[in-house]
Amino acid sequence: MNDSFVDRRRFLKVAAATAAVALLPAGLPARAADAVKLTEDDPTAKALGYVANAGKVDATKEAAFKKGSTCGNCMLYQAAQDKGGFAPCAAFPGKTVSKAGWCRAWAAKPA
Ligand code: SF4
Repeated sequence: MNDSFVDRRRFLKVAAATAAVALLPAGLPARAADAVKLTEDDPTAKALGYVANAGKVDATKEAAFKKGSTCGNCMLYQAAQDKGGFAPCAAFPGKTVSKAGWCRAWAAKPA
C-alpha cells in the first residue's frame, strides 16, 4: 500500500468523522464532564479499532497504526476539555476517549 493511498484513506475517515459531528443535534453532551467514557465494546469503537491503550495495538494487524500515535497527539482529541486523561473526540460524539488510546481515524495534530 503506498503512502498516498493511506493518506487518502485517513483523510476520508477524518472527513466522515467531521461530517458526523456537524450533523449532531444540539442537545447531545459535548463537554467531557457530561460525556461517558467510550468502551472498546462500543460498536463504533469496534468499527474504528479503538483501544483505550495504544500500547495494545498489534502493529502487524493495524496498517494504519504509526508508532507513538495516541489520542493525545491526534487532531480530533479535544485536549482543552481533558479531564483525568479523558476528553471528547470528534469521531465519537457524546463520548470521551482515553488520552492513551488510539483508533484508525487517528490524524496527526498540525505542528
Ligand atoms: Fe479520537 Fe483520534 Fe483517539 Fe481515534 S485516535 S479515538 S480519532 S482522538
